[in-house]
Amino acid sequence: LGEPPAFMVAGVPAHVDGQLQQTVHAQGANLINPDRMWHYTEGLRNWNPIWQGHGIRVLPGPSSLWLSPGGERLPYPHAPGFDTLGTLTHITTQGWPYTWFVLNRAVIKKEFTLSGSEQNLDLTERDIRATLGRVGSRVSPSVQAFMDKGEDFVVRDTLDELLRGMADLTGDGLLDPEQVRREIHARDAALANPFGKDPQITALRGARAYLGDRLVRVVKPGPLLDPQSGPLIAVKLNILTRKTLGGLETDLSARVLGHGGQPIPGLYAAGEVAGFGGGGLHGYRALEGTFLGGCLFSGRIAGRAAAGAV
Ligand SMILES: Cc1cc2nc3c(=O)[nH]c(=O)nc-3n(C[C@H](O)[C@H](O)[C@H](O)COP(=O)(O)OP(=O)(O)OC[C@H]3O[C@@H](n4cnc5c(N)ncnc54)[C@H](O)[C@@H]3O)c2cc1C
Repeated sequence: LGEPPAFMVAGVPAHVDGQLQQTVHAQGANLINPDRMWHYTEGLRNWNPIWQGHGIRVLPGPSSLWLSPGGERLPYPHAPGFDTLGTLTHITTQGWPYTWFVLNRAVIKKEFTLSGSEQNLDLTERDIRATLGRVGSRVSPSVQAFMDKGEDFVVRDTLDELLRGMADLTGDGLLDPEQVRREIHARDAALANPFGKDPQITALRGARAYLGDRLVRVVKPGPLLDPQSGPLIAVKLNILTRKTLGGLETDLSARVLGHGGQPIPGLYAAGEVAGFGGGGLHGYRALEGTFLGGCLFSGRIAGRAAAGAV
C-alpha cells in the first residue's frame, strides 16, 4: 500500500489497538496475514468527535468527481464506491496526502451516507418517518451538519469561489484551480453526449437501470455546474484507518492454532480478532458491508464447537 500519509483520521477509538491479538500471540497462538490492512479513502474529520482524531467514512454513491490534490481526475476504475483497496493503493502509492470529491447539493443529498451508528439515528432509533425522509428532497441532518461545520467541506455558490475555498482549505499550494475547472467542464460536456464513452458516466447510467439504486443511491445524472443543483461542494478526503484483516489463526471449528499448527486446548477465536471482520470469509478484497456477518458466523461456529467439546 505504499507509505502511510502523514495525516490520517482514526476510524476506531485508540483502545482498538490489536493488543488482544498480540497478547494471545505471545502465549503461543499463531497470527496470520497481519499485513492485510483495510482502510478507507473517504475519511472526514468529525466536527463532533467521540474519540481522538475521530474520522467518519463517507459511503459514497458513484457520481462525485474524484480529484487528486493537484486537481486531476483519478483514472477509472477509481470512481466513488467502486474498489476501496484498489483506490487506496492508487492514492498511497502516489504519495498523495489526501484527495478531493467535487459535487453539488443534488449529489450529496442522495449519494452521501455517513458510517457510524450515531450518524444514522433514523435507522438505529428505528424512526420510520425519519428513515422515509431519505427519499425526500432534503439533505439529511447528519450530512447537513458536516456541510455547515465540517473542516473538510467547502460549500460555495460559484465555481470561482469554490476553487478559492479549496486552495485556502489546504493552504499547501498543491491545487491547480484551472485543472479542476477543466475537469468539471470536461465531465459536464461528456454527460451532455448520450453516446459518450466516459466510463464513470456510463456506470452511472448502468446503476440507474436498477430500481433500488435509482431510488436511494444514484442521483439522476446532471451537470455539476447546474445552478438548480447548487451550491457546489468540495470535500477533502483523508485516509481513514480501520483494521487488519489478519488475526489469530483458527481451524474450521474456530479453535486457535499454536505455532506448530496444533489447536490450543480450550481456546477459541471468532470475529475480528480471528480476522473474520472481512478478509477471512470473503477474500482479501472483502465485500463492503459484510464484515459483521463473518463475525457472527464465526461466533456461531466457535460457540457450537465449544459446546460440543464440553
Ligand atoms: C464505524 C464502523 C462502521 C462499521 N460499519 C460496518 C458495516 O456497515 N457493515 C459491516 O458488516 N461491518 C461494519 N463494521 C465492522 C463490524 O462492526 C465489526 O467487524 C464487528 O462489529 C466486529 O465484531 P466482533 O464481535 O468481532 O468485535 P467487537 O464488536 O469489537 O467485540 C469485541 C468485544 O470484546 C470486548 N473486549 C475487548 N477486550 C476485552 C477483554 N480483555 N476482556 C473482555 N472483553 C474485551 C470489547 O469491549 C468488545 O465489546 C464497522 C466498524 C466500525 C468501527
